Amino acid sequence: MVLAPIEQFDDDIHVSASSVRSIIEGCPREAFYKYIAGYEPQDRSSGLVLGSAVHEALALFYLTLQQSHREATLQEMVDIAHASIDAAENVHTKDGEEPMKVTATRLIEAFLEHGYRPRGKILAVEERFSITVHDPYTGEVLPERLIGYFDLVEAVDGGVVVTDHKTAARHDKAKGEEQDIQMALYAHAARQIYGVEHVTLQFQSLIKTKEAKVVVQPLVPQDTDTALETVYSAVTHMNLALNMDRPEVLMYKRPSWKCPGCGYRSRCQG
Ligand code: SF4
Repeated sequence: MVLAPIEQFDDDIHVSASSVRSIIEGCPREAFYKYIAGYEPQDRSSGLVLGSAVHEALALFYLTLQQSHREATLQEMVDIAHASIDAAENVHTKDGEEPMKVTATRLIEAFLEHGYRPRGKILAVEERFSITVHDPYTGEVLPERLIGYFDLVEAVDGGVVVTDHKTAARHDKAKGEEQDIQMALYAHAARQIYGVEHVTLQFQSLIKTKEAKVVVQPLVPQDTDTALETVYSAVTHMNLALNMDRPEVLMYKRPSWKCPGCGYRSRCQG
């Protein structure tokens, strides 16, 4: 049986799946600039801005469904996506790129035609969560809380379905077969918050091909124990760095194909 969400607590000290991923799988120096030093990025990529705009439109769709029991219209969704794009500052676009508003409209049209319709009662839309995490070796509660945002959670057959929205250039079939630290942590959070054992995870990807597509992709069961160990490793890494005179030594640069779009590239190169 699905329960009411548990009470959430203050989380001044926190860690997110993005910061863990950034330290362990991405570039620790970028994580240092963003999560420790708190620097503003010099710009945001058009992909990020478009992704946020589409997320907002999808949130409107599912909130309207939850609260008014009707589907939002194309115009309502496009208006919110375009407003989000207009509000974005310092956007980094690539030469020859389709205007973001055009892409957003195409993706929303495809979503309205083929997008995911919940099968059960909607429990959360674009909702922040904050849960306790433990030291996996001693069981002690860590001062850091794990935070994140559920895009969509619904109650189905005594469990919950957690859907994560993505915008992507192409469909990656392998994604559903892989371990994904964010989704593993979201499964763990959903179990704690809704008091259920059974959590189904899926991606809803809006694909920016010439003819926009929507792909709903279930994920294989995720190894939450390993994901929680990874959170502990990332927290330990960050705390050790904070106690050093030169935290950059542990928060080293890991150059990759992502550098040209990194919001800290000038600071990093300087
Ligand atoms: S530019 Fe590259 S190496 Fe530098 S912080 Fe960004 S991702 Fe890391």
